[in-house]
Amino acid sequence: MKHSTLAIQGGTPIRKEKFRRYNFIGDEEKAAVNSVLDSGILSKFLGSHHQNFGGGEVVRSLEAEWSAYFKVKHAICLNSATSGLIAAVGAVGVGPGDQVIVTPFSMTISASCPLFYGGIPVFADIEEDYFCLSPESVEAKINSKTKAIVIVDIFGQPYDVEKIRDLAKKNDLKVIEDASQSPLAKHGDAFAGTLGDVGVFSLNYHKHIHCGEGGIVVTDNDEIAERVRLIRNHAEAVVQKRGITNLVNMIGHNFRMTEIEAAIARCQLRKLEDLVIERRANVEVLSKSLSQFAGLKPAKVRAGSTHSYYLHACLFDESIVGVSRNKFIDAVKAELPVTENREEEGVTLNYGYVQPLYLQPLYQQRMAMGEKGFPFSDYGQGISYEKGLCPVAEKLFEKSFFCHDFMNPPKSKQDLKDVIDAFEKVYSLRHLL
Ligand SMILES: *Cc1c(COP(=O)(O)O)cnc(C)c1O
Repeated sequence: MKHSTLAIQGGTPIRKEKFRRYNFIGDEEKAAVNSVLDSGILSKFLGSHHQNFGGGEVVRSLEAEWSAYFKVKHAICLNSATSGLIAAVGAVGVGPGDQVIVTPFSMTISASCPLFYGGIPVFADIEEDYFCLSPESVEAKINSKTKAIVIVDIFGQPYDVEKIRDLAKKNDLKVIEDASQSPLAKHGDAFAGTLGDVGVFSLNYHKHIHCGEGGIVVTDNDEIAERVRLIRNHAEAVVQKRGITNLVNMIGHNFRMTEIEAAIARCQLRKLEDLVIERRANVEVLSKSLSQFAGLKPAKVRAGSTHSYYLHACLFDESIVGVSRNKFIDAVKAELPVTENREEEGVTLNYGYVQPLYLQPLYQQRMAMGEKGFPFSDYGQGISYEKGLCPVAEKLFEKSFFCHDFMNPPKSKQDLKDVIDAFEKVYSLRHLL
């Protein structure tokens, strides 16, 4: 069909009927939750040196299943990946004035987590092709105060493992891997999440699988695992009887997961592989079509890695397309419908991803803890959060990056075709924009 008027200019959109809802909570989850409810024990944690210090049966079953699935020695359930990242930073011993290298191009907590221990986030730039922290940029930020790197497998694919591992080894740094967006992605034979010293998964509603809110920390390191468990559950009340003598960061939170969430997450874990396979198949179809439009470039997958597609990232070259990214993407959005149940999110096609995180007021005004702005006030001298700090992240945000989640199941062939038709229509009529 030949179109002559873009929807954004009053024409008929390619599709009005909403995409079907993304809901993989089914009878298994309901039965599992009911059996927890019937037991009357909705959480069994005790914040003391007791057999229930590590939680109830369902939490511990999820931990055993998660560690077997991802081939890692310890899996520790928490109430979010946010808590998981904070606990991981504490467990590796970050303290006031320690510098932690972070990425500007991620969800907010990937960069702010060191601040909870007085650590200073130091932003390095990202790779143009894969959007993870660039090893060269990381290397340039390392100094004698650097203690750790928080690295994100952004959009669903692992970071440059070999180069980061070498840097960490050479400089005695801990690598905290934020795998919230990359469950089941692999680097070689190893799963994302298990590539650094400690990894963190998210089970929030937006992720591949979810249990409402939840997070899982994984590590092969016994000491880090023990310290994450302590930070999760009132460390200071437990260390004495547990024989812990190194008290660094042994102030605890309540970061515990309930039995209900664990019951749901156990069912969800069994669905993960099929969901990722479907995402990959959908991306293959979409990538092939989108890459036919000169100036649009679906992002590459790193050699030796697999991708689990939390989002499908694409590059946009205005000089080839002839119109700005924002104009073009707004026009495509106008051709497509929202998704049932997630109407308030709008059409799930976005330009820019996130504003580079150092441009947030937190960093611009250097106000974190208390009126004086600790830890920036004491330890932030010489650390820049100026615009221009990470040119690649800024360029992607401002001009050359877009992403979408149209590969999210369930999608029919027709759904994918409608997405491609929307791009095709806008591309062929872009001279009207
Ligand atoms: C979602 C997400 C988080 C936070 O997950 P929560 O479980 O909501 O705390 C952290 N990092 C990244 C990269 C994420 O995508």
